Amino acid sequence: MKIYLNGDFVAKEDAKISVFDHGLLYGDGVFEGIRLYDGCVFKLDEHLERLEYSAKAILLELPLNREQMKKAVCDTCRINDMQNGYVRLVVTRGPGHLGLTPDGCGPGNVIIIADDIQLYPEELYEKGLKIISVPTRRINSSALPPAIKSLNYLNNILAKIEAKKVGFQEALMLNDKGEIAECTGDNVFIIAKGILYTPPLDAGSLRGITRGAAIDLAAQLELPCREQALTRYDLWTADECFLTGTAAEVIPCVEVDHRQVGDGTPGVMTRRLIDLFRKMVLSDGVHLNEQD
Ligand code: PMP
Repeated sequence: MKIYLNGDFVAKEDAKISVFDHGLLYGDGVFEGIRLYDGCVFKLDEHLERLEYSAKAILLELPLNREQMKKAVCDTCRINDMQNGYVRLVVTRGPGHLGLTPDGCGPGNVIIIADDIQLYPEELYEKGLKIISVPTRRINSSALPPAIKSLNYLNNILAKIEAKKVGFQEALMLNDKGEIAECTGDNVFIIAKGILYTPPLDAGSLRGITRGAAIDLAAQLELPCREQALTRYDLWTADECFLTGTAAEVIPCVEVDHRQVGDGTPGVMTRRLIDLFRKMVLSDGVHLNEQD
């Protein structure tokens, strides 16, 4: 496996950066997780735009512009002979002093890893996932806007650990008002009485690329969609529930906090959205053959 590191392709064992990098010392940096389907980098422009916004929000200057970043992502897939997989794009603040200030840090490290992805087993897409709400709350959006996809994921990691400790694969995270924010690495949707709902971004949700795709696909199905604050009760009493994320794609959720969702099997609209999403990923992106 060859890793992209600041313009070079290096063997995995040689892909090393300074221990003084503030990405390591403080989680000071930004990242994206991107999928490659049959040689098509799914929604690459949307991911790169989110990376640019995340960087801007933390006053981090990206060392590469959009076109250079696009080429670097595609080159990394090509050099590793990948047609399907997951791309992790990381930009750190770079090496600096031990203090918090980023003054004197840099240049930032650009790291691109193209690897296989460990998906949930196909069985879960047929049977559905069970999730549980956990004590760790999503960070208040006035403290750290959830739209920033930063290298600091401790909040979500704690929630994941709490869910795993009690036997669940995914945690439902609430905000400090007790409203639904998101899962640890996925956005949440419900369908109730023919309407699709998902929490608004200020509830503590990342502006998920897959979330956006699901909203677009719902419009194709003429399923009205509302971004509105949701409570656990709304999830417990929904007809259908599903999660969206780059790694998870669109995955049905059939149990929330020990309450069965709908009849306990993936809902009809959820299954239609999964079918549409699986078609969409093959066409909506940048094809490796087209990018030079
Ligand atoms: N929320 C969080 C906290 C995430 O890290 C992610 C990405 N894994 C998502 C939601 C889903 O976003 P996307 O669809 O862009 O992967």
